[in-house]
Amino acid sequence: MIAFLDSAGSSLPPREVLDEVVGHLRREAEIGGYAAARERADDLAAGYGVLAELLGAEPDEIAFTDSATRSWLAAFDAVPLGPGDRVLISEAEYAGTAIPILHRAREAGYEVDAVPSDASGQLDLEALEEALDERVKLVSLVHAPTNSGLVNPVREVVEAAHRVGALVLLDACQSIGQLPVRADELGADLISGTGRKWLRGPRGTGVLVVRRAAADRLRPRLVDLHGAEWVGPREVRLRRDARVYEIWESSVADRLGLIAAARHALARGLDVIEREVAERAGRLREGLAGLPGVAVHDVGVRRSGIVTFTVAGVAPQEVRDRLAAEGVVVSTSGASSTLLDMGRRGLDEVVRASPHYFVEPAELDQALAAIGGLRP
Ligand SMILES: *Cc1c(COP(=O)(O)O)cnc(C)c1O
Repeated sequence: MIAFLDSAGSSLPPREVLDEVVGHLRREAEIGGYAAARERADDLAAGYGVLAELLGAEPDEIAFTDSATRSWLAAFDAVPLGPGDRVLISEAEYAGTAIPILHRAREAGYEVDAVPSDASGQLDLEALEEALDERVKLVSLVHAPTNSGLVNPVREVVEAAHRVGALVLLDACQSIGQLPVRADELGADLISGTGRKWLRGPRGTGVLVVRRAAADRLRPRLVDLHGAEWVGPREVRLRRDARVYEIWESSVADRLGLIAAARHALARGLDVIEREVAERAGRLREGLAGLPGVAVHDVGVRRSGIVTFTVAGVAPQEVRDRLAAEGVVVSTSGASSTLLDMGRRGLDEVVRASPHYFVEPAELDQALAAIGGLRP
């Protein structure tokens, strides 16, 4: 029996997703990629509505991409930033978003400040209020960090940021598919997400939400002949919807797989999924806390399905490998992925277990027994 506890890394796609992807690849091999895509044109067009329903947005606020990072980068690149401006990040910022923010700052000349976490481990809302002023043009917020059980309070951050006119770019890579992430409820201007994690879609897929209200304040730069039209010798006309952030070429099989994954999650219900994931993560945390030599490192008031821990005397990657040999799949998260947070908490690396709703109680017991049996 395989206990699969790595949906925060790359989850197991359900049957429908697999059938869509493999089926479409086979069809491409029969009639060619262009004709195969034409056959599925209606389903591909309907995909915008499916993701819009999942993410509490309008179909024209959705862009399909090839990863969460690509979505995030496309959005970030379109936010005008220059000398005198400020960008706020959170202590739990993911390296994949901190790096582009810090890198671009060297040329663009804006300031970057990190908002600390409060005693519970979530973003400190009072510190945020103090850090916000009219110069802040962007707040980069991670919904559920990659390296702890935290779920950040998005709506409160958005309300505070909007009071000074700042845009909020939400990294929802670890929350989409495991809990309700709705743009209309959270208020975030921009939301990036992946297919392969909690949504159980194919690798190499991502989604971006660009709210209409924010669209006019953005300057899309990385456009091609899909996002824009060449209308005169020196004239181009950009699309008005979020598809300006897409490029023409994509894996149609994977796109169909992502749409199937979103339909699958919607059919189960995101609040149902959230309950099921929380129940499993809670059970795992409790079990781990009772094991000698095991320390759980999760923080926050509201918890995600990510459970992080260390085993005394056994390095996290060795824990991962020894558990794999016993059919328990987990991953690890190192300090460089979330430098500020791991540094403040004095952690080098943690083991990360992320049970989705399909994990059975017996599989959690199997994982706990295997972890309990680890000796230095
Ligand atoms: C995985 C992850 C990302 C990046 O996702 P990709 O699919 O690799 O682009 C971004 N943010 C967080 C918090 C993540 O865990």
